[in-house]
Amino acid sequence: MTKITVAKGDGIGPEIMDATLEILKAAGAELEIEEIEVGEKVYLQGNSSGISTEAWDSIRRNKIFLKAPITTPQGGGYKSLNVTTRKSLGLYANVRPCFSLSPFVDTKHPGMNVVIIRENEEDLYAGIEHQQTDEVVQCLKLISRPGCEKIVRYAFEFARKYNRKKVTCFTKDNIMKQTDGLFHQVFKEVSAEYPDIENEHWIVDIGAAKLADTPEAFDVVVMPNLYGDILSDVAAQIAGSVGLAGSANIGESCAMFEAIHGSAPRRAGQNMANPSGLLQGAIMMLNHIGQTDVAEKIQNAWLTTVEKGIHTYDIYKEGVSKKKVGTREFAQAVIDHLGQTPEILEKVTYEKGAPLQLPAYKRKQG
Ligand code: NAD
Repeated sequence: MTKITVAKGDGIGPEIMDATLEILKAAGAELEIEEIEVGEKVYLQGNSSGISTEAWDSIRRNKIFLKAPITTPQGGGYKSLNVTTRKSLGLYANVRPCFSLSPFVDTKHPGMNVVIIRENEEDLYAGIEHQQTDEVVQCLKLISRPGCEKIVRYAFEFARKYNRKKVTCFTKDNIMKQTDGLFHQVFKEVSAEYPDIENEHWIVDIGAAKLADTPEAFDVVVMPNLYGDILSDVAAQIAGSVGLAGSANIGESCAMFEAIHGSAPRRAGQNMANPSGLLQGAIMMLNHIGQTDVAEKIQNAWLTTVEKGIHTYDIYKEGVSKKKVGTREFAQAVIDHLGQTPEILEKVTYEKGAPLQLPAYKRKQG
């Protein structure tokens, strides 16, 4: 039994979290759930970071956090809970698998199966901004050697663990010779330690164009924070929909799992939202805590459900889909298919074993 912290979030959050938890329970996940409140209500009570001290205690104690999307109120003064969580818990790696479900979900890229691994703490997200003069502002781009090494090594270890063949790095080191230059340099050094995995580097602008046009050419892609933020949304969207993708935020002691989309307030309370993104996050969580059998069972049931054309409104398409369902009915369909494997989409099998561990960082000599 693993104790986890759960936040149901705002907007469509509670509906997709309830659906996800129902599926986890029906599949036999051994989880004890401790619920916390984060997001809009907490912000509006006057807490500018959207999370209370008790909620932090729960996350730090349990070390595993399954989080539904939250609404950041409009206006100044509210800090992004996501950025705060990633930095406070040292969640250095953001992992976003983006794969197509063709021909059951519309995409121009039926062969796409890319994992974006984004550095999650540094770069322009360090939150260091200055007013230089009345008319000039500045944002500091912070890149450290330990930060680069952790994320690049994570990408190669991930590739090795999940039988991926190639790791690609995107930077703009032709212009930012020191910051992106360091990221690229560390990529060269670390890649030499993984001769079994192919490696390549692209300048981010042409790399992004290639990723949007021919995603089949990529496997695992590692990049600094800002490029990864933008390109993981692009990759998820062109794979089918941002509503289908999950995200894992991995640290040395804690990890947070979520959907990549937001709280879609306009769809809230209508039993319409697709719970798949959060479910994908939860499946990564089960793999992370070693409940691989349950993860595998749920993923195969989910693939079977999608393959049978049981679709929520966002992926429903006349002629391809068979039945338009709401959030609850979709979750029930996944539960009904537990134990089944897809016929046309590739069934998944997950490696058993400990979660991915990185060797400790050693300062470079000389
Ligand atoms: P959004 O991702 O919430 O929604 C954009 C549109 O995508 C929606 O109107 C809806 O049509 C569709 N959509 C998204 N998820 C869906 C799902 N599961 N099923 C069906 N359709 C879905 O983006 P937004 O409208 O820009 O942001 C709304 C709020 O979410 C904002 O307050 C924003 O700050 C917040 N947000 C939170 C997170 C997070 O908590 N991780 C991430 C992004 C945005």
